[in-house]
Amino acid sequence: MAHQLTAPVKTIHGVKLATTDPESTWDITIEYHPGSLQGIISSIDPSNSSFSTVSSPSPLALPALVHPHVHLDKAYIHNSPSCSHLLPSTGSFQEALTTTTAAKGSFTKPDLLKRGEWLLADSVASGVTAMRAFVEVDHTVQHTCLDAGITLKQRWHEACNIQLVCFAQDPIFSTEHGDENRRQIEDAIRDHGSDELAVLGTTPYVETSTEASKRNIEWAVDLALQHDRHLDFHLDYNLAHPEEEPAPLVWHVLRTLRARGWTSRTTNKRIMLGHCTRLSLFIKEDWGRLAHEILDNDLPVNFVGLPTSDLYMAAAPNDPGKSNPRGTLPIPSMIKNHSLDAVIGVNNVGNAFTPWGSADPLSLACLGVGVYQAGTVSDAELLYECISTRARAAIGLASSNFDPFPDSKPGVRLKCGDCADLLLLYDVDDTGLMGAGEARARKSVAEVVWDPPARTSRAVVSRGRAKMPALTKGYETTFRYIK
Ligand SMILES: [Zn+2]
Repeated sequence: MAHQLTAPVKTIHGVKLATTDPESTWDITIEYHPGSLQGIISSIDPSNSSFSTVSSPSPLALPALVHPHVHLDKAYIHNSPSCSHLLPSTGSFQEALTTTTAAKGSFTKPDLLKRGEWLLADSVASGVTAMRAFVEVDHTVQHTCLDAGITLKQRWHEACNIQLVCFAQDPIFSTEHGDENRRQIEDAIRDHGSDELAVLGTTPYVETSTEASKRNIEWAVDLALQHDRHLDFHLDYNLAHPEEEPAPLVWHVLRTLRARGWTSRTTNKRIMLGHCTRLSLFIKEDWGRLAHEILDNDLPVNFVGLPTSDLYMAAAPNDPGKSNPRGTLPIPSMIKNHSLDAVIGVNNVGNAFTPWGSADPLSLACLGVGVYQAGTVSDAELLYECISTRARAAIGLASSNFDPFPDSKPGVRLKCGDCADLLLLYDVDDTGLMGAGEARARKSVAEVVWDPPARTSRAVVSRGRAKMPALTKGYETTFRYIK
């Protein structure tokens, strides 16, 4: 990792917190258990003025950001000179599958490390301190992407907790390579412990028959249970009417989890369902049935909407061009109206599946305001939770245990007992035109989500150690370090 983090931070002084009086400032203390560099927030107290100076900046301190679903090995293919002949010519889903498969044939470990570091640098600078990162394992790349992922996980472990997914993007129960692809996955899961390879992921919709898709799901549930891993499906990525046959595969996933006794056989392993654009055509009764099946059976199922990919790619089938409807999971409604666990993720950057957008989760939350018509202050806070605290819980990372402000809303505030993963937003004139004038501050979570501030204004603390903002001045007075 090129960028050095600071020494372990002992205290952070004079910060503003979400959902408290915007004029009040607070001091955050971080503790380290003996022999560990994993900082934990041990106290949050009203600011001690003896530490502060009148000129100290008062950043807004929020829980750090999380990628609940991002493809590490496919990032920035479009920026790689060796793949310049693979830029989209039609922009279709089939073309994306074909050209990405062709690009995979030329992946090398140095190329994977370079593009992966671009993604990690962009992500950490945005405020991301944990991510679920997919690396593909199949007959084309074998374990090359996985090996590069493990190298990146080790190189970047101080700045970002990378949770790797052993991912079957390709069919494992159909086509001439299915058997080989399946063997490659089984070998990878067997050869790597859950610390190194915490998640098994597959793509049931790429199989050539519904029967093979169902076998894909059943095999994945069994393998995840056998080796004690989280499970992650790319599922129902189309806009066919839910009443049409074959039925949405989400029902088969839930049926299989129940039949295999997932909840009673694991203690903390979760199931994430990604894309699921077809569910955007559900009517109220369908949502009721879905929530009922998940909640009544105590299934640890999360959904992740991937709106930059979904809006770009998920089109209705058999559409002769008369209309061009789009669909992505209605995440805020799923949470508020159906009590489902749901988050949003970046998915792809810089490749044929999603040639637009950045690795900044705040830009995704901002997009969500428009996509979901989520215009209230509390909507903005919910969207922030979906790229932060809810996303962290969804990928199975430990969460908080003590809230010093129990009377205000959970989810966008720092809490005692949380790991010391913070995003600090300073007031910066990123226009370069304000001179001595007052830069436009983001004083609340809603202002941050509605118009995300430049990354150069963000300091990131990862388990107690800080990456400072690139342009902000005066931040040094905010931090005290363990000597
Ligand atoms: Zn994906």
